[in-house]
Amino acid sequence: MRLWIALCSLGLLLVGCRHTGGDAPLSYDPPGSTLTTDKAIAPQHRRTIGFTQSGVWVSNEFTGARLNDFYRTDDSAYTAVIRPENAPINNSAWYAFKIWAERPQTVNVRLTYEDGDHRYVAKLSRDGEGWTPIDDASYAHDTTDGTATLRLKIGPDTLWVAAQELITSKHFARWMDEMARRPAVTRRVIGESRQGRPLRMLTITEAPETSRYVLVISRQHPPEVTGTLAALPFLETIAGESDLARAFRKHFTVLAVPLMNPDGVDNGHWRHNTGGVDLNRDWLHFNQPEARTVSEIFGKLKDKPGVKVYFGIDFHSTQEDVFYTLARDLTTDPPGFTDAWLDKIRAAFPDYTVYDEPYGLGSPVSKNWFYETFGVPAMTYEVGDESDRALIRKLGIGAAEAMMELLLAEVE
Ligand SMILES: [Zn+2]
Repeated sequence: MRLWIALCSLGLLLVGCRHTGGDAPLSYDPPGSTLTTDKAIAPQHRRTIGFTQSGVWVSNEFTGARLNDFYRTDDSAYTAVIRPENAPINNSAWYAFKIWAERPQTVNVRLTYEDGDHRYVAKLSRDGEGWTPIDDASYAHDTTDGTATLRLKIGPDTLWVAAQELITSKHFARWMDEMARRPAVTRRVIGESRQGRPLRMLTITEAPETSRYVLVISRQHPPEVTGTLAALPFLETIAGESDLARAFRKHFTVLAVPLMNPDGVDNGHWRHNTGGVDLNRDWLHFNQPEARTVSEIFGKLKDKPGVKVYFGIDFHSTQEDVFYTLARDLTTDPPGFTDAWLDKIRAAFPDYTVYDEPYGLGSPVSKNWFYETFGVPAMTYEVGDESDRALIRKLGIGAAEAMMELLLAEVE
């Protein structure tokens, strides 16, 4: 497995490299990704473009949009140009735009990329809230030149086209407001992103004297929406009404920062924050305010007498579902948690294949910081880009239940 991934990282295997977009130390990282001091980013020109002859309009004037240029190449053919915030960059080529036409027509839109290749199957929406993947017959991914062509039926009603469901800071704020209505949940602003967006943390507990902690983060990488689709039900389950959740909350406190990179998400970035940096490579030097703020809040637990952290988890997305775990020769407290947790997930989802890829330390990612700071089991929970959305949700719930059962057994 390690050799296979090493070959992938060297580009020697052209097919079957599952995790080239992931976060493991042996997977592909562009040069300089662990140098986390500020890098310049190119701002996206926000505008609405119209074509007089065809009556077609396109716009990137909304939160989370990414469309850098758009031009007509033939009667019904258009080319969209998508660029990252800066380069070199991991290939997570996010795009999102609105398109409509004065009279009904079918257009072909070719998605082209600079500093990257097409990755995400297009998702379509009529209102920017409900999304469905484009049907296979209207979608052609050309892997030889890294482009994709979408056949879109458009008319006066706006069609939203995006790499994944649009879940931006507005959606997170709404979700956190909902969560905070539950008696066991409080939320607070712990700091600001580089562009001044609030970094919000949820505290989930009913423990009178809080002393046992679980730490949860997600969405360091803006396009990794499927990680969010697992993280939110994971947290909802911990905050839920089940006997298990109530018992868990009497003994444990969960601190969760579900949106680590609000600037990147709202600016339609491929990977970085507005400092042009991969936040999940900043968990050593903490040059960026997002990782620094959260590490300072979490890090205070280290010096508190009587306090013990039990587990740290960070939700991401890559090509397929996979759990990046710690190498088993690293001693954790509690011991054996990772294997017991994965076994519980296997037992709860017998038709689901659990991919476990353990790694040693070395890369400055959050998972390793959790371990190095607290000596706890830690995990990068990776969800496939195109994994079934209903199953993602069920697994997020099942993963939370398995975690709560195992950690409760530690204290009972
Ligand atoms: Zn990621």
